[in-house]
Amino acid sequence: MSFRETYARLSDSERRLVCKERQLSHWKENSRYCPSCGTPTEQGEIPILRRCPACAHEIYPVITSAVLVLVRRGKEILLVQTHAHAAAGRMGPVAGFLEIGETLEECAMREVYEETGIRIQNLQYYANQPWPFPSNLMVGFTADYLSGELRIDTGELLHAAFYPPEALSALSLPLPGSLAYQMLLLYIPV
Ligand SMILES: [Zn+2]
Repeated sequence: MSFRETYARLSDSERRLVCKERQLSHWKENSRYCPSCGTPTEQGEIPILRRCPACAHEIYPVITSAVLVLVRRGKEILLVQTHAHAAAGRMGPVAGFLEIGETLEECAMREVYEETGIRIQNLQYYANQPWPFPSNLMVGFTADYLSGELRIDTGELLHAAFYPPEALSALSLPLPGSLAYQMLLLYIPV
């Protein structure tokens, strides 16, 4: 079983612990050398600090922010399939990484437009979640369709469509435990 599949089967409290450990390990593996002068770094006074003995450069963990945007159009919701998720056939909300100098809201609007050609309105924060693939903070938003025809960025996506809630149970969805899955659960009829 892959780490992703294992992660999906953990309880919430186990997942938080494993996520923290994984993000810390990722940071340590990628902080062995000073990015400024190349000297091997040393552990600092606190667990999340490594320091360069040559130039005193300090390295703290970097968390990459990414948004998830669930776009509603009437009763339907917009789901996309990325190339990265093609093997598992999984469909999910639009997702993308925060760029330099950008707010999370700007990121959400940009990602939806770039990937699908759709303009959105009523953007609302939903929830956020630490995510260890490899070291992200996922920030979930909901939004309403404003305008535009679906025109996918084929470099990023294989497929995108608006689905009615009753179609969701027949689709391959994001892994349980993920924020993307929690957001879709709101729309799956019980
Ligand atoms: Zn250095």
